[in-house]
Amino acid sequence: MGMGYSLVCRKCGYSRNLFAGCGMMYHHVLSEKTEEARSGVHGEKLKLLFEQYPNGCIDAMNEIYYCAECRTVECESSLDFYKPKDSGRSADDDVFGRDMSEYELVEKHQHLCPKCGSPMKNIMRLTADTPVDCPECGSEMENGHMLMWN
Ligand SMILES: [Zn+2]
Ligand SMILES: [Zn+2]
Repeated sequence: MGMGYSLVCRKCGYSRNLFAGCGMMYHHVLSEKTEEARSGVHGEKLKLLFEQYPNGCIDAMNEIYYCAECRTVECESSLDFYKPKDSGRSADDDVFGRDMSEYELVEKHQHLCPKCGSPMKNIMRLTADTPVDCPECGSEMENGHMLMWN
């Protein structure tokens, strides 16, 4: 189950639907992202974390990221790195879904804007203090209704 947000610009009519969380394909996405992260596709830091904590894992849930520099909004897998609290725990114990209360956060993944390279902000919890400006005209967009998806 995931959650979606609908961002709407009242001024120019631009709108965009963004989806966060995980869908039916989560296990597929997770194993794909884990493979990528282990092989260094998502940067040296994640690769080294997997070497340091072989039974660690990443969070592959979709989150929404926003670049305040160029107003780019992207949905990406979070890729935050977790390690099991019990170091004897094997990743194989969690084939049918992880109990994240058994894990602790090691490192948040820094998402960079695909357009300008600036650090992006996680705007998963869209609130009044994280305004998102319209990519088209620059006015502040409204966070419209929530959408649910599977
Ligand atoms: Zn940017
Ligand atoms: Zn606009």
